[in-house]
Amino acid sequence: MGCLECGTCCQETEMLLSKKDIERLQKKGFSIKFFARNVKEGYITLRNLNGHCVFFDVKNIKCKVYRDRPIGCRLYPIIFDEAKGVIVDKLCPAHRSWTENNKKVVGKKVIRLLKKIDREATQRSSS
Ligand code: SF4
Repeated sequence: MGCLECGTCCQETEMLLSKKDIERLQKKGFSIKFFARNVKEGYITLRNLNGHCVFFDVKNIKCKVYRDRPIGCRLYPIIFDEAKGVIVDKLCPAHRSWTENNKKVVGKKVIRLLKKIDREATQRSSS
């Protein structure tokens, strides 16, 4: 279950952001235009720059906002797949270290987060 800090998940990110993620990063002094992009119907994701997350430090293979990173990044590699439900993303080289039980525990958090993001997107697109 340990992260190998390889940075694979920081490449071409499509990580959805919650309102709290956005507020936390703004409080750190980053403008929303810098780190986020509107994708569709009120949904906001992390922005990529040169093929990786704007916060990815290529030289040091590190997240520049690790302590304040989005919740979805903390829960990764557990993700929700439309067809399969909660899964461990096989793109993560550490995916085999996840037990069914750990997947279940983190999976519940992923579902809660996505429901929240759905509600926030609906509010955003209807205002
Ligand atoms: S892909 Fe997996 S092992 Fe690599 S940084 Fe992301 S979570 Fe860690």
